[in-house]
Amino acid sequence: MQKPKYKRVVLKLSGEALAGDKGYGIEHTTISSIARQIIEIVGKGTQVAIVVGGGNIWRGVAGSQRGMDRATADYMGMLATVINALALQDALENIGMDTRVMSAIEMKEICEPYIRRRAIRHLEKGRVVIFAAGTGNPYFSTDTTAALRSAEIEAEVILMAKKVDGVYDSDPINNPDAIKFNYLDYIEVLNKGLAVMDSTAASLCMDNKIPIIVFNLTEEGNILKAVMGENIGTYVGR
Ligand code: UDP
Repeated sequence: MQKPKYKRVVLKLSGEALAGDKGYGIEHTTISSIARQIIEIVGKGTQVAIVVGGGNIWRGVAGSQRGMDRATADYMGMLATVINALALQDALENIGMDTRVMSAIEMKEICEPYIRRRAIRHLEKGRVVIFAAGTGNPYFSTDTTAALRSAEIEAEVILMAKKVDGVYDSDPINNPDAIKFNYLDYIEVLNKGLAVMDSTAASLCMDNKIPIIVFNLTEEGNILKAVMGENIGTYVGR
């Protein structure tokens, strides 16, 4: 059996990734397909930690634009990620995958608190770990959470799941002539303001040399290809 290239990965799933075509809420078939893809890579021996977003339910910035206190709106966003984490846990456990949700904001009745060493232990035992509630701090994003947790658990790569097959110089949905990058340096992402992740997250990846693979999640089998080291999407590194 061909060995995976990566032994430990962080998979970043935006809230939208769970919403399917609707763009909001959680779609059963979409989340089940993601769960199947995850179980496939765990079967290859890769340890998988997931950072899940909340944009399919609530985004702090949107709330603050409508006059809400930003920190309060952000806490609502973090709670949205917990809802998604539980849905993902349910989908994974439905197909027999041992899963632990670890929240950056303590919610002891429904999941474990995030404890770095415990998270690593779960991974070593072959459990999928889902990091919920972002970093636990307002003014941050779940992209930054993915960068932070990757550094903490020493993941080899962040798999950034998107609806497009990589990073382009302009929006490929609106511009048919948009050019795709196969490789990017962190500094190019920052200087050109490319839609990989927000600048706080990209800086954290750059400073800690965490590579990022941006790929299309809607094509089933892509997570496996990424983990096996196939050239899919855009590789961001140095
Ligand atoms: N959020 C936060 N701190 C964090 C992570 C997330 O305040 O460390 C809040 C923020 O309001 C954000 C929301 O949670 O808008 C949902 O996360 P995000 O927008 O990153 O989700 P995604 O775009 O990946 O679905």
